[in-house]
Amino acid sequence: MIKSSSTNEISAIDKKHVIHPTTNPYLHAKQGPKAVFAKGSGVNVIDAEGRSFMDGVSMLWNVNTGHGQKELAAAAYEQMAEIAYGSQFYGFTNKPAAQLAEKLAALAPGSLDSVFFTSGGSESNDTAFKLARFYWQQHGYSQKNKIISLQRGYHGVTVSAQRATGIDAFRNFSGSKDPDILNAKAHLTECELGDRSHPDYKGCIRSIIEKEGADRVAAVILEPVQGAGGVHLPPEGYVEAVRALCDEHNVLMIADEVICGFGRTGEMFGMNHWNVTPDLMCIAKGITSGYAQLGGVLISEKVNKVIVQYDNVLAHGFTYSGHPTACAVGLKNIEIIERDGLVARAKEMGDELKKGLQYLQDKHRCVAKPRNLGLLAGFDLMKDPEASLPFHDSVKAANTLVEECFDRNLIIRPFDFEEGMNIVAIAPPLVITKQEMENMITIIDEALTAVS
Ligand code: PLP
Repeated sequence: MIKSSSTNEISAIDKKHVIHPTTNPYLHAKQGPKAVFAKGSGVNVIDAEGRSFMDGVSMLWNVNTGHGQKELAAAAYEQMAEIAYGSQFYGFTNKPAAQLAEKLAALAPGSLDSVFFTSGGSESNDTAFKLARFYWQQHGYSQKNKIISLQRGYHGVTVSAQRATGIDAFRNFSGSKDPDILNAKAHLTECELGDRSHPDYKGCIRSIIEKEGADRVAAVILEPVQGAGGVHLPPEGYVEAVRALCDEHNVLMIADEVICGFGRTGEMFGMNHWNVTPDLMCIAKGITSGYAQLGGVLISEKVNKVIVQYDNVLAHGFTYSGHPTACAVGLKNIEIIERDGLVARAKEMGDELKKGLQYLQDKHRCVAKPRNLGLLAGFDLMKDPEASLPFHDSVKAANTLVEECFDRNLIIRPFDFEEGMNIVAIAPPLVITKQEMENMITIIDEALTAVS
């Protein structure tokens, strides 16, 4: 039973006992938590004092079907009352895990028909790297183990996912290393198509494959739209160029769909925008809309063929791989996404969001490069966008804007991981209405007035 305590008591306990992820620990120890969330409903979260906030980022871009979905609570309850947990190790299984795997195979593009379940995005990416390396080992290429990721990409915080992340603050945290992961410059379509005279050629994926040798490169990983690196959409033709490059050099392509999957961008998966099928596809977050911890790697027939011929123990797996309760929630969550047409809604509301961002750019001089794909959006804050003049490195305009929005009961997210980086992200739950979208833009509009 959770004890009933006042917000002040909870804050004091939290300050004393909890280390928070991706939070400044020094400031947290002084200031305590910003809010104690107690309830949620649709696009809103309500704190323990009853103050309601609009959740403009779906918490961590994961609450796709919105807060307070009683059907998901019921699915978890019903499964827990039957059997809450059963392992997938040693060949055991359970109904929700098998049925969710079947559903994912039906939804995913191409022949991504098998799934290895995990508990989240980082585990999924580490699993994909291991499977890619394993795949080539089984083909007799024992040194084909390098993974190429992109600058500004975010893939999580387990050691390999951390090294694949192309944001220095995460990539270098604590000095953990997977030396076989290399970081390439992002989104250089011409270079990936083979333009060696391009000034940025050195450092693109193609140049790294050429330098390392294709017989040493296992896979390339990329997000359809880069999220935590600042919401960067790939230029036209880029994703297709990377697919062709991977095919040309016999390198596997891994899509990190942890944010983009399950409707976020107005398609069920981000890769659908370009009709590209990766060899391995990592999912998490939106699969359960955050109601339970679940992730997975969808595996193509090509890779799966090699796995199922391995006549030995596949020595990889998590206690919570295929967790029955999490999978039951995942199944119900996908049912809600399909039943309520949330993929189409993300597209439609994404068009509204685009208009809203354009309005903000037209009105506020500091708003630069507004961008979105469905309900995954961001913009830069600059001193003078026309002159390409950023704010001084010490000016944390994104943080100021986010604080101003928070004071007006809207949660959005700042990115200031690197010097001079002043970006905010917006990614509301897919259930957002047109009226709620207008309210959100109005709040940002007012908050921007306070910033600029
Ligand atoms: N990949 C992407 C694209 C992400 O955005 C994230 C988390 O934000 C991860 C992987 C890591 O997922 P998790 O935090 O569930 O380990």
